[in-house]
Amino acid sequence: MKVLKFGGTSVANAKNIEQVKNIVAQTENNGLVTVVSAFGGITDLLLQAAEKAAANDISYSKLVEELEARHIATIKELFPINAQSAVLSKVKSELNHLENLLEGAFSIGELTPKLSDKIVSYGELLSSYIISRYFLEEGLDVCFKDSRELIQTNEQYGRATVDFKATDKKCSEFFEGNTAKIIVMGGFIASSENGNTTTLGRGGSDYSAAIIAALNNAKVLEIWTDVSGMYTANPKIVKQAKAIAKLSYEEAMELSHFGASVLYPPTIQPVLYKGIPIHIKNTFEPSAQGTLITKAQGDDKKTVSGISSIENVGLLSLEGPGMVGIPGISARFFDELSRAGVNVILITQASSEHSICVGVSEKDIKNVVEKINSAFAFEISQGKIYPVVSETGLAIIALIGDQMKSHQGLSGKMFSTLGKNNVNIRAIAQGASERNISAVIKADDVKKALNTLHEQFFEENIKQLNLFVMGVGNVGSKFLNQIRQQRKFLKEQLRLNVRVIGISNSRKMAFDGGGISLDNWESVLANGKNADRANFFATVQKLNYRNSIFIDNTASNEVASTYRSYLTNSISVVTCNKIACSSEYRNYMDLKNASREYNAPFLFETNVGAGLPIIDTLKNLIASGDKILKIQAVLSGSLNFVFNNFNDRTTFHDVVKQAQEEGYTEPDPKIDLSGIDVMRKILILARESGNRLEIEDIKNKSFLPQETLDTKNNEDFFESLKKYECDFQKLYKDAVEAKSKLKYVAQYENGRASVGLQQIPVGHDFYNLEGSDNIVLFYTERYPNQPMIIKGAGAGADVTASGIFADIIRIGNF
Ligand code: ADP
Ligand code: ASP
Ligand code: MG
Repeated sequence: MKVLKFGGTSVANAKNIEQVKNIVAQTENNGLVTVVSAFGGITDLLLQAAEKAAANDISYSKLVEELEARHIATIKELFPINAQSAVLSKVKSELNHLENLLEGAFSIGELTPKLSDKIVSYGELLSSYIISRYFLEEGLDVCFKDSRELIQTNEQYGRATVDFKATDKKCSEFFEGNTAKIIVMGGFIASSENGNTTTLGRGGSDYSAAIIAALNNAKVLEIWTDVSGMYTANPKIVKQAKAIAKLSYEEAMELSHFGASVLYPPTIQPVLYKGIPIHIKNTFEPSAQGTLITKAQGDDKKTVSGISSIENVGLLSLEGPGMVGIPGISARFFDELSRAGVNVILITQASSEHSICVGVSEKDIKNVVEKINSAFAFEISQGKIYPVVSETGLAIIALIGDQMKSHQGLSGKMFSTLGKNNVNIRAIAQGASERNISAVIKADDVKKALNTLHEQFFEENIKQLNLFVMGVGNVGSKFLNQIRQQRKFLKEQLRLNVRVIGISNSRKMAFDGGGISLDNWESVLANGKNADRANFFATVQKLNYRNSIFIDNTASNEVASTYRSYLTNSISVVTCNKIACSSEYRNYMDLKNASREYNAPFLFETNVGAGLPIIDTLKNLIASGDKILKIQAVLSGSLNFVFNNFNDRTTFHDVVKQAQEEGYTEPDPKIDLSGIDVMRKILILARESGNRLEIEDIKNKSFLPQETLDTKNNEDFFESLKKYECDFQKLYKDAVEAKSKLKYVAQYENGRASVGLQQIPVGHDFYNLEGSDNIVLFYTERYPNQPMIIKGAGAGADVTASGIFADIIRIGNF
């Protein structure tokens, strides 16, 4: 004999039921029991209707209409017209009974657990009846059996306990006398010795099927559902989850107890004793392998078989100095919980015995706190125990696997992975069987925690980086293009899956939780919402993705002022905007500290020398114990471009204009020409070298006339350049006469920094610096005479974008 159970989605409508019939018809069907759930969603609907009726809310009748309509529509689709009336009349008479019950609840304004079970049983009663008639119509040799005549329970309504002895007797009698090849019955429902309808708990159809399988020594129990087996994590939350081919009963039990709702936890018990395998299969993909659960151990190459989670968890903590060494306190605590009918999901006790902490269902918290406090009223009044502390809004996540006990370091890996993603752990428990390590975390963090752990334990270390990009102008758009081109390489070679989740410019912003397509991000953005920095941040925070990175490609003060909120929420920040790092030292340090404290990298390599690895090199020198003695540098790609192109055949104005047009200057070219941009850069290098310096401490003797410096907009600025052309020509002529070139040099030594235009003689390292190149000479204790030199293109959107890219990869490898 085989027992096949089909869940709610598998029988949700006529099309699905037809698919179920195909599966049944193709199964070797001599002595086949088909256990079916209520049509998908009907149990919820019945419960809602019952509650509404009991609350004197007449709108319950709307729900009944909906329920009727669904059953009738299904019948009309399944049966030919001439076969409909018999089925319809039976169903309508059942629906009349149901309405009478609901009317009863409405008129007395009360819903007893007994009545609730009676009402909710109609879901399975109707579905099993309709399906059995349909099978018959399709020519199968089938017999309908009301499960309440087979499964006997006590009268603990809502989740009754099975009386196996009585059930066994009833089953033997029935199956011995049965001649039909296929039996169809409803799951979930049963009855008491007195003949009252009971239910086995939500999701209990699996259990009904397991009971029948066990009592008949079935060859296999097949659970047909809407996914291809038990997955490494809930596939609705973790997109990368995969079906697990084999599991042991114990692993399956742990996974289902810890939230893998694909199998109702009590299901395993009856079949485990008989060694009957459970095969979880997908109704909508019958050829998929599914999951086979047997006595044999699961896949022994895998240390962790699956990750699961339970939501709506609360914590109760009992603490106090009087608890140490006094026997019986925990017994009384658990006794109180048990008397209140509270199911304990997780227990931890500090080894000092100073505190006991239990995880329970959130809904139980309110009810039980007072009871515990009154049970310990005497100890509390004496100050030996503190009133119980309760906390809600929590969840439990658990790593499960038979083989975990033979591997060290798994819990370390689990907790460090969570820690890196700022998932705060409230309590930890590890079963003595070492088949399970569980942690209590905030409910809001479940999705992030499951995904990061899944990535860590199942995805061959492919790491997902989730980018939120602000500023898609020159640099930003190049950056997005580079990611688009490199994605495949990053995934295959560096095991980084880089996704852009949000983008914004100053007008619009757009998000896509699954990743914005980089082929048409422009139109996605154009159709986005109005840009709003606070809202952008709130969305990033709400999405709460693991490895989130905020990228600032703007030159905006306001954007720079938001970094702190990102960092303190453990969201990394990568920026080419120099404003934050060159603002007040206090602010710079504050961001660096937040980065450290919240484990969120704050990288700004492109603040100096665009894509050149200047800051990274400096950090590495210092980290390895070197000390910076002096820095000499040409750090302005724009000024280098200007002075390399300026001569007596051009005008200064035209060269600056050209630099602006070719994207070598800041949007406001005065920031470059006045030397402010270079001041910011040397300031950042000085700070990264370990010095507390402010921008005012940097000497800057500008080569621009005061009037040019005082201009208020680009137009006036360019006009003023024209006016002072002679002065600029003189600078050029003097340099030529001194056989030198003009370079704008930044210098830092002994805690002091300066910037300014200098005549650089032939033979100097700076003399042959071309185009918009930058050069930095690091004189350090290890490189005292011959400096370490970094030289190359130091401006331009492409190289800046690639510098940002490099920072992202640094975070990926973090
Ligand atoms: P049925 O109605 O067929 O009994 P359920 O809804 O009870 O189906 O169970 C199937 C659902 O269980 C899946 O659709 C999935 O959302 C959920 N689920 C949770 N955790 C897991 C897991 N680890 N593996 C597979 N499914 C899971
Ligand atoms: N129909 C019941 C429920 O929704 C039982 C089941 O589907 O397993 O809980
Ligand atoms: Mg189920």
